[in-house]
Amino acid sequence: MTDLVLGGRDPGAQFGFVNPPIVRGSTVLWQTVEDYRAVTGRYTYGRRGTPTSDALCDALKRIEGGAEVALAPSGLAAVTLALLATLGTGDHLLMVDSVYEPTRRFCEGMLRRLGVETTYYDPSIGGQIADLMRPNTKAVYVESPGSLTFEVQDVPAIAGAAHARAAAVIMDNTWATPLYFNAHDHGVDIAVSAGTKYLGGHADVMIGWASANGAYAGALKETHGALGLCVGPDDIFLALRGLRTLAVRLAHHQAAGLRVARWLESRPEVARVMHPALESDPGYALWRRDFSGASGLFAIELKPGATGAVAAMLNGLELFGLGYSWGGFESLAIPFDARNIRTATRWAPEGPTIRLHIGLEDVGDLLADLEAGLARYAAAAG
Ligand SMILES: *Cc1c(COP(=O)(O)O)cnc(C)c1O
Repeated sequence: MTDLVLGGRDPGAQFGFVNPPIVRGSTVLWQTVEDYRAVTGRYTYGRRGTPTSDALCDALKRIEGGAEVALAPSGLAAVTLALLATLGTGDHLLMVDSVYEPTRRFCEGMLRRLGVETTYYDPSIGGQIADLMRPNTKAVYVESPGSLTFEVQDVPAIAGAAHARAAAVIMDNTWATPLYFNAHDHGVDIAVSAGTKYLGGHADVMIGWASANGAYAGALKETHGALGLCVGPDDIFLALRGLRTLAVRLAHHQAAGLRVARWLESRPEVARVMHPALESDPGYALWRRDFSGASGLFAIELKPGATGAVAAMLNGLELFGLGYSWGGFESLAIPFDARNIRTATRWAPEGPTIRLHIGLEDVGDLLADLEAGLARYAAAAG
């Protein structure tokens, strides 16, 4: 990915150094009152952009198909930025039922207080979302695949129905990244990503970004400025460093993730593997049509077992850490229960569910760790 290597840097303007310098700053000085009054120059105040934030925005713009990019201090801040850029009092929002839970909390809390009503919809709805559209529906929000449960959505069909009623389409594109799903080419107006995950890639930075096509670029910029969102230069530098290797890391996460997912599918302790790039997955056809790759995050459902069996499995894992977030070089395994989160659809697995992130360790080592874990599960499951 040449764009990942070239974006946001200009050695000729950086004393020959390969990487752009980190610029820290709040105040920007003008030479004269006349210049100050005419607002000459690209920079006016640190919060409103620096050469460092411009470098990352320029690089991200290249992988977002030229869309306008705004940085946020976390992925969740990018999500709320996109929602606040498109919605106001009296408006209606259509939200996918498999959405990242903190996004749902924002809709139920702050958006409700602001007088925005949210209706949740089945991730498999496709073009039939037209039936849920109201005259005041201003935005349709998609997340594909869904958080925790990995349902793939028919984004072009949903976007077609939303645009027919002049509603904005917002997408959380964190799982695939713009490298494996070009959101704007599939009808998305504002795409958001948690750069905390694969962009940073090393579990050492919190950052997010939103990108908007022409129709919503102005609203995104204005809302971004009004909220006072900005990101510290060191965090931007880490994201820019992560960006250079994003394509090679993702390719490895994809290949290793698929190997582990296929192996898990063959195991007697496993009831189901939720991974859109597996031929057995209900989302496979849509994934194949619209995505150009898969990341290293997926979930499994185990056959039912006694209470404590999941802890026996996970507590003894040596290579898989137990913790939030993902997209770093390290593998993670976390138990989850999505049964009581959904309101528009029923999600009722028979056995316990675990989300896995496959990192950059040797795949053979990971399989051995999981094999021992599944043996502990089977022994404790009874
Ligand atoms: C992690 C995540 C977010 C939030 O990102 P933070 O940087 O943790 O705020 C948003 N959406 C999805 C799908 C995520 O996985």
